[in-house]
Amino acid sequence: MRDCPFRDVTTCGRENLQSMAARKSQHCGDKSHLLAEYNRSVLEWSNALRNLGEKPDDTEFAVLLAKVDEARAKTRRAKSAYNAHVAEHDC
Ligand SMILES: [Zn+2]
Repeated sequence: MRDCPFRDVTTCGRENLQSMAARKSQHCGDKSHLLAEYNRSVLEWSNALRNLGEKPDDTEFAVLLAKVDEARAKTRRAKSAYNAHVAEHDC
């Protein structure tokens, strides 16, 4: 039990830990897809912000700011979808 990560022996069922580890290591395609979607929206948000900074032209400001807001909302949705999947799937 020297390598047991838990001090309380009752919470350290070796079989439980092993099956949990096996389950967690399994590839979940949906999770990968949702993570990729999240990363894409973060990148989009980042690009939108950079555009906003590089073009301080008044005529473009509203359009560029709208793109930032849109990308931010998309990022929040992507993160929520990812969190919801992980919570439900435990993957
Ligand atoms: Zn999953």
